[in-house]
Amino acid sequence: MAEKPQPVRVLYCGVCGLPAEYCEFGPDFEKCKPWLIQNAPDLYPDLLKEAGAKDADKVSDQLQSASISGAGSSKPKEEEVKRLPGGKIKKKEKQEVVIEKMTRNKRKCITTVKGLELFGVKLSDASKKLGKKFATGASVTKGPTEKEQIDVQGDIFYDIVEFITDTWPDVPESAIFFIEDGKKVPAV
Ligand SMILES: [Zn+2]
Repeated sequence: MAEKPQPVRVLYCGVCGLPAEYCEFGPDFEKCKPWLIQNAPDLYPDLLKEAGAKDADKVSDQLQSASISGAGSSKPKEEEVKRLPGGKIKKKEKQEVVIEKMTRNKRKCITTVKGLELFGVKLSDASKKLGKKFATGASVTKGPTEKEQIDVQGDIFYDIVEFITDTWPDVPESAIFFIEDGKKVPAV
């Protein structure tokens, strides 16, 4: 007598429909994240850290008590989230420039700049200007979600805000953010 085979349980993402462990390779990981935090936190432990930084008010209570400390509840909501029928979440894209410093191979530092295109800036043009200003290499690349971003060689954190607001006056200082230790913080 053969035992009845156990069905393999696959958790499908409620946003993109892929098996949840493949969301990060899917078309819109950013949109999957809130769902994953709620439904598959084990698969993406890093998301919890991110959630502490920017989505604290949307994460379920259990997560908050488990791992988030110091995230003030008086923080204003950063993104408008609409819940559509069927549990899909539609996020309005916020106009902001996000700058992150990354170290590759432990030595090489790269500063990524995301979101300039939301202010009508042509990225190829911005990449050239940044490279020239900081006398370094800069290029337009695709990030993990296939969105274009600018990679600038070196650490240019401390001059970049002024350069951006001087060069592209449509970008207000208040819309510029840094990612520091995985947290999004206003640049000024
Ligand atoms: Zn997904």
